Amino acid sequence: MDTILFLAHTEADGGLSKASLEALSAAKTVAEGLGAGLAVGLYGAQTADAAAAVAGCGATAFFAVTGEAFGVSRYATDAAALEGLAKAAGATIVLAADDSRISRALPGVTARLGGRIDAHVTGLAMADGTLVATRGFYRQRLQAELTRTERPWCLTVAGGCFAAYAGAPGQAAATAVDVPVDAALTRTTVKTIIAPSADEQTIRPDAKLLFVAGAGWTKKQPDGATHAPEASDLILGFLGKSKASLGSSKSLVDMGGEGEAVLPFLTHLHQVGQTGATPRHPKGLATCCHGEEPHVVGWRFIGERRAINLDAACGWGQGKADVLYVADAFAVMRKINELL
Ligand SMILES: Cc1cc2nc3c(=O)[nH]c(=O)nc-3n(C[C@H](O)[C@H](O)[C@H](O)COP(=O)(O)OP(=O)(O)OC[C@H]3O[C@@H](n4cnc5c(N)ncnc54)[C@H](O)[C@@H]3O)c2cc1C
Repeated sequence: MDTILFLAHTEADGGLSKASLEALSAAKTVAEGLGAGLAVGLYGAQTADAAAAVAGCGATAFFAVTGEAFGVSRYATDAAALEGLAKAAGATIVLAADDSRISRALPGVTARLGGRIDAHVTGLAMADGTLVATRGFYRQRLQAELTRTERPWCLTVAGGCFAAYAGAPGQAAATAVDVPVDAALTRTTVKTIIAPSADEQTIRPDAKLLFVAGAGWTKKQPDGATHAPEASDLILGFLGKSKASLGSSKSLVDMGGEGEAVLPFLTHLHQVGQTGATPRHPKGLATCCHGEEPHVVGWRFIGERRAINLDAACGWGQGKADVLYVADAFAVMRKINELL
């Protein structure tokens, strides 16, 4: 009989992230599907609020590693905490979010436990009493269904694939797991976290809309001139007002590397497509982007696709978009920003 363990670190406010609450739903699904026991393992500077928040999730055991040393993202302490929790729970199947902190530490922990790990899982199903995990390979072009007999089997769950757990809070007395903190564990010290402000951070996985900028924004327009500064203002103005997430075509981000007129806020991290990201948003709007297959393949998890292009024969117009506005994106976005 398997024991399912949900693992999560707490956030600065003592709560759990949306990604972790999604992983908890995944763990519940597995426990219910296999008729197995569910345990919760939490670690962080504070864990009591998080334990109370998930008290009603159906878990029969709660474990916590608590202390200032576990409040920061650091491989040594994160790995020690995860290992301690997995051993305390006697876990055979472990589920956690695939956030940066877990993704960094859990593979090493799995090796210490003699188990196996699969990352970025997008679906979980039960077949004849066996857990089947789904994940993509080769930029999500191939989908694999994985089963494993080795235990513990650790799985990190991709964001946006499960509904976040939203049960009522309650009372949960977590068993404290003692993880000694010696000098070797805290040799790395976290001095400060430097992160862009919410407005500067334009990759927003939770946004309802993906706004994609293509190379057309920096190309010569019908008046024979380029208008990169106005393009910047229109795009940033729209992102500021709509809080959409920003994506780009490869052509536009590559131009920066070649020293051409660019939109300075774009990096290769924004690139959507075969050699870029495959984001998940309910809606997408492509602007000044031709909609070629290597780009559009990155849109496979976008629910509704719209595009603005001067060219009615662009890729979007050939069955790749639900709606194509044959129009000047400068004019359309100027008007949309006015309306917003
Ligand atoms: C192996 C391989 C991997 C690749 N991987 C990726 C990838 O991951 N992601 C990716 O994006 N590409 C990728 N590409 C490149 C891809 O094939 C295209 O070259 C690229 O997506 C084109 O970018 P674009 O549409 O922005 O530029 P362009 O093809 O130059 O298109 C610009 C568009 O802007 C329109 N336009 C211009 N002005 C306006 C205006 N005022 N209003 C409205 N529309 C306007 C034009 O009509 C045109 O359609 C890959 C290619 C290869 C070979």
